[in-house]
Amino acid sequence: MISRDAQSVRPGVSPTGPATSAAPAGILVTDFDGTMTREDFFNLVRQAWPIPAGEDPWERFVAGSLSHFDALAQIFARVRADETAWLQLVARMGFDPKTPAAVARLRRAGWEVVVASAGCDWYIRRLLRGAGWTLELHARPGRLREAGWLEMSPPVDSPFFSPANGIDKAAVVRDALRRVPVVAFAGDGRPDLEPALQVPPERRLARGWLADQLRKAGERFIPFDAWPEVADRLLEERAS
Ligand SMILES: [Mg+2]
Repeated sequence: MISRDAQSVRPGVSPTGPATSAAPAGILVTDFDGTMTREDFFNLVRQAWPIPAGEDPWERFVAGSLSHFDALAQIFARVRADETAWLQLVARMGFDPKTPAAVARLRRAGWEVVVASAGCDWYIRRLLRGAGWTLELHARPGRLREAGWLEMSPPVDSPFFSPANGIDKAAVVRDALRRVPVVAFAGDGRPDLEPALQVPPERRLARGWLADQLRKAGERFIPFDAWPEVADRLLEERAS
C-alpha cells in the first residue's frame, strides 16, 4: 500500500483530503475533465485555436501513434495566448455549481474523494481552489510559460506515474482497493476504461465515451449526466 504521506503533493498544492484516523466508508476515485466538468480542457483548446487537418495530435492519439500524454502536451504547446485567454477557457469547462455541495454530502457520509486526471493541474487546481476544496489530486503538472503556451510535465514524482498517461488511474483505484473494500470510480474518457472495470458495476459511474464503450462491451454501469448525480447514486447504494 502506498501511504498517503508518500503521495506526491508538490509545492503550492493544497493538502490532501481530510485527515482522519478511521478508515473511510468508501473511496471515490473520479476523473476531472468531462466528469467533474462538462467539457474537456484540451478540446476547448482545440476549438479555440484550431489545428490544421493532418496535424492534430489528438487524432494521432486516437489512431494509436501518439501517447495520451504527448497528444495533450503537443496541443497545449502549439498555443500562443495570454493568461486571460487561457483562463476564459477554464471558465468554459462547465463546472457544475452543485458539485461542491455534492462532495460535502459524500464526505459527511464518510467518503473520501480522490481526483485522478490525465489532464493538467494548471486548470484543475484553479477550479478546485475556486470551489474552496482541498481534494486529493493526482494530475500532470503544468505551468503557463511567458511565451503563452501551457507546459505540461510528466508527474515523475507521483507513485502513480505512467509515461503514457501521466497518471495511471487504474493504479490509483488499486491503491484505494488496498485501503478499503468499498471503492467507486467515475469517468468519461479513454483513460477511464481500465480503472472503471476494476470496481463493481454498482460503483462504476460513466458518461460520454466511457459509457458508450461500456455499453458496447456489455459491461454494466451507472450512467450520469452531471457530477452531483455521482454522489446521489453512491449514497443511495450505501443506504440500500
Ligand atoms: Mg475525462
